[in-house]
Amino acid sequence: PRIFCCSGTGCHATGSIPLIAALREEAARQGGCVQVIETGCNGFCALGPVVIMQPGGILYCKVRVEDAADAVASAGAEPVERLLYRDPAGKAVASMDEIPFFALQRPWTLRNKGRIDPENIGHAIAHDGYQGLAKALFDIAPEGIIEEMRLSGLRGRGGAGFPTGLKWKFAAASPGDVKYVLCNADEGDPGAFMDRSILESDPHAVLEGMIIAAVAIGAHQGYIYCRSEYPLAIQRLTLAIGQARELGLLGESILGSDFSFDLEIYQGAGAFVCGEETALMRSIEGRRGMPRPRPPFPAQQGLWGRPTVLNNVETLANVGRIIRLGGGHYAGIGTEGSTGTKVFALSGDVNNIGLVEVDMGTPLSVLVNDIGGGVPGKRACKAVQLGGPSGGSIPAHLLDTPVDYEAIAKAGAIMGSGGVIVMNDRTCMVDMARFFMDFIQDESCGKCTPCREGTRRQLEILTRICEGRGAPGDLRTLEDLAAVITDASLCGLGQTASNPILSALRHFRDEFEAHIMDKR
Ligand code: SF4
Repeated sequence: PRIFCCSGTGCHATGSIPLIAALREEAARQGGCVQVIETGCNGFCALGPVVIMQPGGILYCKVRVEDAADAVASAGAEPVERLLYRDPAGKAVASMDEIPFFALQRPWTLRNKGRIDPENIGHAIAHDGYQGLAKALFDIAPEGIIEEMRLSGLRGRGGAGFPTGLKWKFAAASPGDVKYVLCNADEGDPGAFMDRSILESDPHAVLEGMIIAAVAIGAHQGYIYCRSEYPLAIQRLTLAIGQARELGLLGESILGSDFSFDLEIYQGAGAFVCGEETALMRSIEGRRGMPRPRPPFPAQQGLWGRPTVLNNVETLANVGRIIRLGGGHYAGIGTEGSTGTKVFALSGDVNNIGLVEVDMGTPLSVLVNDIGGGVPGKRACKAVQLGGPSGGSIPAHLLDTPVDYEAIAKAGAIMGSGGVIVMNDRTCMVDMARFFMDFIQDESCGKCTPCREGTRRQLEILTRICEGRGAPGDLRTLEDLAAVITDASLCGLGQTASNPILSALRHFRDEFEAHIMDKR
């Protein structure tokens, strides 16, 4: 029997480190036939520390050190009733497959969550890790890799949704012997923890994606740009890179082929703007992380002026499996324009806070009510914020909107990287808009005037309105400023900075007007 104990950052915070030690101690004391395996994030962060008992796929929630003896004794035997998940009616549910939080998901990118030790490359390989790389190196030429990616329809999961195959095709076609592959792990949206969890639970999936991208475009060096606030992710990545080198999956002559590729981790200091691709590249170059105008695009002139492919963590974690199973397989999931699955970080006023993955096209209501378990305290959902500070709020009456790039944009938000913040009926939407503008204004790099000064003026106005000092012309001024900032800002941060205000005005204008009319 095996006990898989979640050792992601979320469960670390609720006590999984001493729990794992206690489980191991108990396993040794009770005869040593029970294996305790430390995994990455299992997804059900609200109920941590979580433990999965195999065989049986039995979920134990909120397990404490004092429960270790009973948990180990129950491995391969009768489950411990008090540790089981309870449904909303209070009934104990043993099998994960019967819990809607798990049953309604499709773990495609998160295929190894809760079932491998991320610090053991053998576990990744036993679950088909690096098979896509072997196929990419020996069975299909670089053009074949790009064609499979095109067929898959995979779009960049960092937010922009640009087709991955097309991005690789541009970089492959750019002349030059020196090219780079970069991984953007600078996840900075409030409420987003998808990339961190993927890196913590399955770092080899990301490495495999990077190596395949390198084969496709002819790059021999890569960098993972990871924010330094993610120490566990960096620790596991570092281990994974070392293990991959030892097994000949990185470095000279990969798997005995004539292809070489190696990579390094670059730690960012937490500036939100460094998630923007040109700022990220400048930061790796050792310069101040500020965006530059495009064109030239990174696929032609990126890091140190060389052709560069930059993909985010989730995008890259999909690649190995797409190549192994074929692009057509992936394209069979999701919708026509938004294929595959999407990972979301579910947070805010929702019962089942955690990491979830669903098919593209799944209605938001399934995400919030069925997987998320609805709003706590029997309150109603007022809106869902998607896409972080670059996104917008979707009101409750539009929760049948499917999660696909176009449908979400039509509803006034953006898919973004996958942060989903649920808000209950007590949430003040003016204050919500002010919160995001406060974040953006603080993170603006200050290079261009519309973003630097415009967001400051918007924040002042929103603060005034929140404090009951709003003036009748304020909403018009907010909209006029939004038009200029969107049109005249240099990078995506400024160009999307007004989205939370505009979507709140679109769906909740009456709340802004009530604040202004109801001065106290
Ligand atoms: Fe900097 Fe904002 Fe201009 Fe982007 S839009 S370059 S973040 S000032």
